[in-house]
Amino acid sequence: MVAINENYLKLKAGYLFPEIARRVNTFSQANPDAPIIRLGIGDVTEPLPQACRDAIIKATEKMGQRESFRGYGPEQGYGWLREKIATHDFQARGCDIDASEIFISDGSKCDTGNILDIFGNTNTIAVTDPVYPVYVDTNVMAGHTGAANEKGEYGGLVYLPITAANDFTATIPSQKVDLIYLCFPNNPTGAVATKEHLQAWVDYANSHGSIIFFDAAYEAFITDPTIPHSIYEIPGARTCAIEFRSFSKNAGFTGTRCALSVVPKTLEVKASTGEKIQLWSLWSRRQATKFNGVSYIIQRGAEAVYSPEGQEQTRGLVNFYMENASLIREKLSLAGFAVYGGENAPYVWLKTPNDLSSWEFFDKLLTTCHVVGTPGSGFGAAGEGYFRISAFNSRENVETALARIVKAFG
Ligand SMILES: *Cc1c(COP(=O)(O)O)cnc(C)c1O
Repeated sequence: MVAINENYLKLKAGYLFPEIARRVNTFSQANPDAPIIRLGIGDVTEPLPQACRDAIIKATEKMGQRESFRGYGPEQGYGWLREKIATHDFQARGCDIDASEIFISDGSKCDTGNILDIFGNTNTIAVTDPVYPVYVDTNVMAGHTGAANEKGEYGGLVYLPITAANDFTATIPSQKVDLIYLCFPNNPTGAVATKEHLQAWVDYANSHGSIIFFDAAYEAFITDPTIPHSIYEIPGARTCAIEFRSFSKNAGFTGTRCALSVVPKTLEVKASTGEKIQLWSLWSRRQATKFNGVSYIIQRGAEAVYSPEGQEQTRGLVNFYMENASLIREKLSLAGFAVYGGENAPYVWLKTPNDLSSWEFFDKLLTTCHVVGTPGSGFGAAGEGYFRISAFNSRENVETALARIVKAFG
């Protein structure tokens, strides 16, 4: 008889976004003329930068010529792209990261899930609450958890609440955990971690022999010059951290697909024999076996991000979304909401008024303002009573939505 991976049956079957879609559909069927604006999306809206499009077209033409045609590329990614990343994103910020430690991939979502391939099944795993659901679900699929309770918390995971009480940065646990997922700037709360906070995590990890998975997908949105963009800006991170980055949010590559993981060669874990094993070798072997690299055409598109035009254009995109974020913060505050995030991240996290639950506020916003956001409780139990508004939208939609909210709540 065929056996299936029954861990999948423990998953809270993609509850959040289907439930949002269900409620929006019900409402719009009853109110077909209501002009609904969606500020719930975690996807970019603005087109690909010109520099990236030009590079993609040029690379496509090269693929049409026998002399410049390319077949399989290096599994780890082309050297020219890895060199540019190492120089611009890491060495320029004082991080001791070499191009050979960078692995190009088709997404951070994939990387943060796939990384579990090189770890065993007995680790204690910590996630923040609220959290990017991929970290939790991939551990559920791998059989690293028990069943979920009614709040959606899985047995066996260590949840680190991030709330207004701790400035939305996870309090360092008193117990020992082996793997820790950190995402800063944070999705969904928009919070950032200071150098001191990340130093405390790095010190914790080095003293306990833990590994930090640092998701820096939103680093380009940091405006405060004192906030680190990479965990490798923190002394000691080369012996305890893997970093994930993506072109999805800074360059609008969510549909184009290109990202990277950084695995320092100094990252070692003891095997059961006591032998020290380099995680870089395991990840390199994993990628070479299960992945055949990102398309040459798309890697050329990603490389163009580092050209002077690409830098200017991606900065333009980020600034555009951050102006949206700042409008959202300003108008929501005016309407009397307690708002967080949105200063170094494209997400604003608000406290629901009058102690409404996240879903009660969702319904109220939908029915009174025809605006869709994301209930905080969908990202974890500690997100209850909070709500995420995304800055990924056109200026017109953001302004219209905010005017309706100010009118209804202000
Ligand atoms: C959008 C996002 C990513 C990027 O994922 P890709 O697969 O590279 O598109 C990674 N982490 C978080 C938390 C995100 O919100």
